[in-house]
Amino acid sequence: MSTTAKPTVKTYQNYINGQWVPSSSNETFAVYDPSTEEVIAEVATATARDADQAVKAARAAFDSGPWPETTAQDRGRILFKLAEKVRQNAAALAELEARNCGKPIVEAEFDIADVATCFEYYGGLANKVTGSVNPVPANALSFTMREPMGVAAQIIPWNYPLLMAAWKLAPALAAGCCCVLKPAEQTPLTALEFANCFMEVGLPPGVVNVINGVGEVTGAALVAHPGVDKIAFTGSAAVGKVIVKGAADTLKRVTLELGGKSPNVFFADADWEAAVDGALFGVFINQGEVCSAGSRILVERKIYGKFVEAMTEKAKRIKLGPPLERETKMGPLVSKEQYDRVTSYLELGKKEAKTATGGGRAKAFGKGYYVEPTIFYDVNNSARISREEIFGPVASVIPFENEGEAIHVANDTPYGLAGAVWTRDIYKAFRVVKSMRAGIIWVNHMQPTYVEAPWGGYKQSGFGRELGPWGMEEYLETKQVFVNLDEAPIGWY
Ligand code: NDP
Repeated sequence: MSTTAKPTVKTYQNYINGQWVPSSSNETFAVYDPSTEEVIAEVATATARDADQAVKAARAAFDSGPWPETTAQDRGRILFKLAEKVRQNAAALAELEARNCGKPIVEAEFDIADVATCFEYYGGLANKVTGSVNPVPANALSFTMREPMGVAAQIIPWNYPLLMAAWKLAPALAAGCCCVLKPAEQTPLTALEFANCFMEVGLPPGVVNVINGVGEVTGAALVAHPGVDKIAFTGSAAVGKVIVKGAADTLKRVTLELGGKSPNVFFADADWEAAVDGALFGVFINQGEVCSAGSRILVERKIYGKFVEAMTEKAKRIKLGPPLERETKMGPLVSKEQYDRVTSYLELGKKEAKTATGGGRAKAFGKGYYVEPTIFYDVNNSARISREEIFGPVASVIPFENEGEAIHVANDTPYGLAGAVWTRDIYKAFRVVKSMRAGIIWVNHMQPTYVEAPWGGYKQSGFGRELGPWGMEEYLETKQVFVNLDEAPIGWY
């Protein structure tokens, strides 16, 4: 596929109440292709006034219908239709995602397939929400009803744009909520293209609104808005803390999927080839711009030297290239800002540890935010490169002497999103699984993620869970209903 043709600059507006509308300030912002640094789209900025319009549209759709009258079965059918639209347009969506984020096209194709699967999963779950009868005394009946939380504002990051939108929209709609989605300003394009099909699949106006703009303005307006019942946020821990504070005044429900500094632990008895591949895949997939990246690689001393050598030798062969070339295994980082951030950590890493490979800009490319896959070794776990989320292709390799030390170092982090352990010893594997303080643990693998299984973190990686039935729970309230079966007066007065 040729990537040399100049892309046309497309313009996008905000999607509010079933219509495409310009910004109330008429302002737009540019969206870039990070492999060429060229503008590929101009997108309408949503002001606080536009955010207010979007929330009002969602509020009206939720409070006065027709969404509350739409049966759970019909909501499920709409979700299936959304999945079908994604599958029909999968090639175009994957290309746009790859072009906008810089991720390899092959990975973007997996993402888009997962988007469709997510809508299918929650389409099936929409009419499986049930309450329960509570064991109160015989002269009463008590039951619980599950009801949608209301209007959800959903704020998402740039690393898996349409997939993160799906993880939020699908369970919210299945639960019966109405939504205002704010994509990251770097990568709003696939969510906006997706919104084109909302009316066609029968989503009433106002049920899903998509607004664009910077977090501090558009996102903050949603967080503060009294018409919003719930904030679902995926992004950095720093912004997560700002959101919790902002949501406190109106006591909104909040779920946070934040970052990580996940340990990938290798014991000497691990399957060698699988382990070396797993270490690289765990940290370099999606250019390392992954919340669950196995960016702290803990290796048992007995195999440490040989393991670093094997990783280094393979990392040097990782094919960097334009996102739309099928052989590309690693594309550019998403933006100049992210490139600057990651390369500043590379300079720091060179001071804090030893460099096995990489450490700078990938020089083969004149343009684009390409960074070499980088492995630092002999890293002390107190080093900043071992404690702070870099969100780029940067591995910190740390030796350990025994199981106890491995567990201690694995848990010695403010984060707790994910972790992995590699060993052939089932006793050891499960001891480590039980000891690791994180929301997702893989054994002899790292990164597989399925819509059927919960996703979310411990500690400063956030709270709440996405995916599976857990994901829908976060959009439901519980109402307890008491029915008196005793006809006699209360007899109190
Ligand atoms: P940010 O936290 O910078 O931004 C995330 C979203 O929040 C963006 O839409 C951003 O808008 C918005 N935002 C920023 N400031 C505010 C504010 N004050 N109020 C409301 N919204 C705001 O994260 P990144 O986009 O840089 O994404 C990377 C981070 O996301 C990493 O830390 C990563 O670990 C995490 N992440 C976590 C995942 C998980 O499942 N746990 C999955 C994927 C990523 P804008 O950018 O447009 O200004």
